[in-house]
Amino acid sequence: MLSNLKIQRVAESRLGSVDFDRLGFGDVYSDHMFSMRYDDGRWHSPEVLPFGPISLPPASATLHYGQSVFEGLKGFMGVDGVVRVFRPDRNAERLRHSCERMCIPAVDEEVFFRAIDELVRLDHGWIPRKRGQAFYIRPLIVATEPQLEVRPARSYRFLVMTAPVRAYFDTASAAVALSVEERFTRASPGGTGETKTAGNYGASLYPGQSANAAGYAQVLWLDGVEHRYVEEVGAMNIFFRFRDRVVTPALRGTILRGVTRDSVITLLRDRGLEVEEGLVAIDEVIDAIGNGELVEAFGAGTAAIIAPVGKIAYRGKEWVINGNATGELTRELYDTITGIQLGEIEDRHGWNRLIPVEDGEQAQRLRASG
Ligand SMILES: *Cc1c(COP(=O)(O)O)cnc(C)c1O
Repeated sequence: MLSNLKIQRVAESRLGSVDFDRLGFGDVYSDHMFSMRYDDGRWHSPEVLPFGPISLPPASATLHYGQSVFEGLKGFMGVDGVVRVFRPDRNAERLRHSCERMCIPAVDEEVFFRAIDELVRLDHGWIPRKRGQAFYIRPLIVATEPQLEVRPARSYRFLVMTAPVRAYFDTASAAVALSVEERFTRASPGGTGETKTAGNYGASLYPGQSANAAGYAQVLWLDGVEHRYVEEVGAMNIFFRFRDRVVTPALRGTILRGVTRDSVITLLRDRGLEVEEGLVAIDEVIDAIGNGELVEAFGAGTAAIIAPVGKIAYRGKEWVINGNATGELTRELYDTITGIQLGEIEDRHGWNRLIPVEDGEQAQRLRASG
């Protein structure tokens, strides 16, 4: 399908101007992006072109009605010069589900992979070599048809942009403090909670801002019906470790089907630990912190990978978990997942998509000098 892929390279790379010691999260983008258009019932005009602004009609449905979906995944440069992209098949599948919910024509997995492969091959110099940093890949589909009726658009644009990013949370330093949100909700049954679509995030800003002002990094969302059961964090799924079992909220349509969440569950079960996906009442969590049953909590998502949760604020009281330090299992999971991503730990489940870009010796030298 992509035999007609057009590649237009930048005249001059911007790579030399990037300070890899001061990376943010999405403030710098690599030289190239992938683009494809949809009109008259089909995707067409696939191309790789210099990263830059796109033009949209002011009446584009995405700008007015939020008809858009996105994904987020990461690639890493291994010491062997092979780039490993973590579980892109899962993101392709989730994008398809998001498209369906938002009446957007789906993009084939093959096209999704090809876009990533081409961008990695062209811009592999942008892949950070410092531990913790990553090559973030952000696919996006937006409705471009200019029309103001509330109905599915007839034209779209699929873009994939990539960015070298810092470690989102640093597990070596302070754990994250969360604030339980009892007034606002993120999603409700039948809504778009499990869809990676723009509106969910826009709606979360106001409660998030209040939490930040009170000194908390993120909101811990409760269910939209009873405000009683824990759902997830801003862009992370949540896990609680009670003494001998780990519990995470079940997928009931209101929380994201996290790829990291799935990886964590798989790794814990590999290790023989009991993992329960179920209803997690906030009262149970608080009681268990109080009586010492709850020994660790952590968030799981592509950006942070694993982020220890050190404090939870609930009804005016602050509850400290594990002395506000990174728990043993939290650290182990972080090390295992990042080890698999870097090619240092055996990838037993075949999670990585391998894209060779350099010879191993060259990669070693670059790592040593960088
Ligand atoms: C993306 C996202 C997650 C994490 O999913 P991953 O696939 O692990 O990155 C969790 N919650 C929300 C709301 C998200 O948008």
